[in-house]
Amino acid sequence: MPCSSLAGHHAAMTGMPFSPVTQAAMHQTTRRCSSLISTLAARLLAICAVCVLAVQPVSAQSILRDAETEALLADMSHDLILAAGLLPSNVNVVVINDRSINAFVAGTQDVYIHSGLIEAAGNVNEVQGVIAHEIGHIALGHSITRSESASKASKITILSLLLGIAAVAAGAGEAGLGIMGAGQQAALGKFLAHTRGEEAGADVAGAKYLSKAGLTGKGSLNFFKRLQNLEFRLAIPQEDSYNRSHPLSGERITLLQEIYENDPAFNARIDPALEARFQRVKAKLVGYVADPPETLRDYPETDQSVPARYARAYAWHKSAYPEKALAEARSLLAEAPDDPYFLEIYGQILLESGRPQEALAPLQKAVASTNAQSLIAGVYGHALIASEDPANLPEAERVLKAAVARDAENPFAWYQLGVVYANRGDTPRAALASAERYVLQGNAPLALRSAEEAMLGLPQGSADFIRAQDIAILARDAVERQSRRR
Ligand SMILES: [Zn+2]
Repeated sequence: MPCSSLAGHHAAMTGMPFSPVTQAAMHQTTRRCSSLISTLAARLLAICAVCVLAVQPVSAQSILRDAETEALLADMSHDLILAAGLLPSNVNVVVINDRSINAFVAGTQDVYIHSGLIEAAGNVNEVQGVIAHEIGHIALGHSITRSESASKASKITILSLLLGIAAVAAGAGEAGLGIMGAGQQAALGKFLAHTRGEEAGADVAGAKYLSKAGLTGKGSLNFFKRLQNLEFRLAIPQEDSYNRSHPLSGERITLLQEIYENDPAFNARIDPALEARFQRVKAKLVGYVADPPETLRDYPETDQSVPARYARAYAWHKSAYPEKALAEARSLLAEAPDDPYFLEIYGQILLESGRPQEALAPLQKAVASTNAQSLIAGVYGHALIASEDPANLPEAERVLKAAVARDAENPFAWYQLGVVYANRGDTPRAALASAERYVLQGNAPLALRSAEEAMLGLPQGSADFIRAQDIAILARDAVERQSRRR
């Protein structure tokens, strides 16, 4: 995986999120790709290398994208969103790649949750309590509405917000999780703080949603109590933590306890299937974001549970032990041969270990069993390209086009699609795919350059031309705003 594998937040400081195995895999994949791609793609790579080297702003944060995590969060919050009178299709729960404990809303109907909050939560109900409270802020209109851009929730506005922040290198991450620029929305979390009145309002609203959804408030109480105690305070940086965005007080917790305990749902049991999925996702996130020794301490080899083997598959992969990683993935598949996410990690490890041919079958199966989930399809498209078989390219194009049509916020699929176009000599469409990717990565100057290049070659008035023009307008505006700020 060439430049697109460089992640935002952590990469900003360390240069490369996961060293040995990733670098090896990258070299390998770069070599494989270059035998396929034309001069143009080679130039794209060069541009890409420049963007990776660009100085990263300290406040840059990135969004973690993972099919399994997103499906779980959607299911966990579905009834809470309905209870608030909102539409589940309009409310996304978005994971920010940040190990501090925080959650916030920022002017749209999206709820942002730091990966650190999921790591710190003991069970699915604790996170549901946090989500219910955040949905309360949305329903009560507490979110930031001052900024002109945040008041319009259109797709275009979201694009311009993404463009508003300086370059964040992004793309698909290692071992199945994608990363993209989070834009100004996510940066807001660091500066956000609700008033006591807003907190009380969101608490009452959140309790009402939990009750309507038949969910206990016990998790929310436990989580807040643990957040208040010293253990947590020492372990997490305070300046951008949950306790700052949502001031916790003994008073607040006592009030919540009274409301929850009087609710018929207080003694409701946690759904075991949902809890099992949560423990898997938590393990996956730990495996993905933590240093491998930390993962192996939390999930030692003596622990043969599904989450532990799942976490270790990521840890081994990150530590350049592909055989050990594959062994954990195979043991998971032996129990659940059709599990799309086990198939996904298995295929991803094979692909990133330089075995794209072997990755094709499991990834194809994962795509088929998730009804062509966009992120998984992006990985499959990558494997098809990396297989170095020209006969696989039409299939790669079909799969990747479907992936971005279904979910355009998939920078990695856009990158791969650009490679397919470039290989076919379709320079304008390769440039348009690059422009789309740079938008998602928050790189306005390169989005502008690519969009203008695309417009030169596309038939005027065509849908692709209009799209390139839209991106150029947004990107030029963002570039001008950035230069005024300096
Ligand atoms: Zn709050």
